[in-house]
Amino acid sequence: MRHDRYRQQNRQAASRRGSPRRRRRRTAGIMLFVLVASVLIFGGMKVLTLIKVHNLASLEVPSYVTQEYLTEDGHHRTGKSLTGIKNIVIHYTANPGSTAQENRDYFNQSTTYVSSHFIVGLQGEIIQCIPLNEQSSASNRANPYSISIEVCIPDSTGEFNIPAYNSAVKLTAWLCRNLGLSADDVIRHYDCDGANHKDCPKYYVEHPQAWAQFKEYVRERI
Ligand SMILES: [Zn+2]
Repeated sequence: MRHDRYRQQNRQAASRRGSPRRRRRRTAGIMLFVLVASVLIFGGMKVLTLIKVHNLASLEVPSYVTQEYLTEDGHHRTGKSLTGIKNIVIHYTANPGSTAQENRDYFNQSTTYVSSHFIVGLQGEIIQCIPLNEQSSASNRANPYSISIEVCIPDSTGEFNIPAYNSAVKLTAWLCRNLGLSADDVIRHYDCDGANHKDCPKYYVEHPQAWAQFKEYVRERI
């Protein structure tokens, strides 16, 4: 008798769970729903990113930026489109006293494999080397989804002088505003994936407080 009741209870529990075939169908349904939802969500995000990157080509930079694009050669200017827009990456030139123009011309040599979207000079002048919708060769694994800014330095401490500092803040804030980024998306080369904590920009790696202050000024200007 007890046995029968046990069997009955078991049957009731099984019917609540549904037959194995019905359970399999339900699981398959849920998996299909998750798959379709993911394709729609991620596909939609990808399309939005592509539209954003495409729009970058027509975004007009401020008049204080001089455009002197590098020759498209497959390495310093690969011509590859950005695949996303996640970060602004700040670098230093590691070459005390060199001007923005000298660094731009260095990038443009056929033997050079590095480049940057922008170079900020010691007088605060800014040269754009790579169009905004293309990848630069500056920030390791972050190249496909970041805009790079090299800042010239007056001496070996790597600290930016006042005109370069102010221009770098102004340009970074302009980029954040126009690319829909925040000051938290502004990172150092040191912070990039694959950079193995490269000592760049030197002074702002060695002085985290100075880096926090730089980002604070950017936040205020956005
Ligand atoms: Zn760097």
